[in-house]
Amino acid sequence: MSGPAGQPSWRIEVLLTGSMRGASSVLISNGRLHIVVDTGLPHEESVLVGALERQELKPSDVQIVVNTHFHVDHVLNNRIFTKSLIYAPQESYDWAKRLYADLRVEGDWEKLVLRYYPEVMDDEKALSYMSALRRFALRWWDEQRLGSRAQFRWLESQPLPDGMEAVITSGHVPGHASLLISNGHERVVVAGDALLSRAHDQRVLTMIPVNKKLYGRDRERILSLGGRIVPGHDAEFQNPDAPAKTAEPA
Ligand SMILES: [Zn+2]
Repeated sequence: MSGPAGQPSWRIEVLLTGSMRGASSVLISNGRLHIVVDTGLPHEESVLVGALERQELKPSDVQIVVNTHFHVDHVLNNRIFTKSLIYAPQESYDWAKRLYADLRVEGDWEKLVLRYYPEVMDDEKALSYMSALRRFALRWWDEQRLGSRAQFRWLESQPLPDGMEAVITSGHVPGHASLLISNGHERVVVAGDALLSRAHDQRVLTMIPVNKKLYGRDRERILSLGGRIVPGHDAEFQNPDAPAKTAEPA
């Protein structure tokens, strides 16, 4: 899969630009193998299909979908990729399924949500976060849109194609995966929500981290990497603080 020494072998294009209201979706392609990382919300389906068309691809050309985690804004167009395998962290899948089911339990959900977000009450905006989370869950969560169970391959046990590595960054949600892609001498990081935004995390409309301390460490770790970085909810940038790895001496 890797090109001649030093030649980029993967082309990485942002399909949906991350914003405070929507998650990044990224195409990774070497011309034969086409991979889409995260798939957005239902109302973004036509935008995603249009972005693929501009790359001369149809959803059925995409062999692999990768989900960084199972918050609604990252997974709900999986179902258009009917021919794809879906690589995702099982820990995040199981956690999100239980969370979204418990948020439907009338009367008891405020107590149940603390199992998933034990730190939420430390935050002065706890109640507004929790009710926003519930509103999102009731409005959007739809397991039909995740693709069929037979499509899933769990990242915990299934390696990604050569040149790509899933790094577990569990501060945002348990099992969350960020992707590191070595592309010749360039490194590309598809961070998912381990890095919400380059500088403005607090503006992003998502839940607080499950583990604030760990999220801080994940964020630092991502920002210590040189190269192109695609945050979960912000435009991509070239990280200037840590220059991309240069060629090893021959
Ligand atoms: Zn998100």
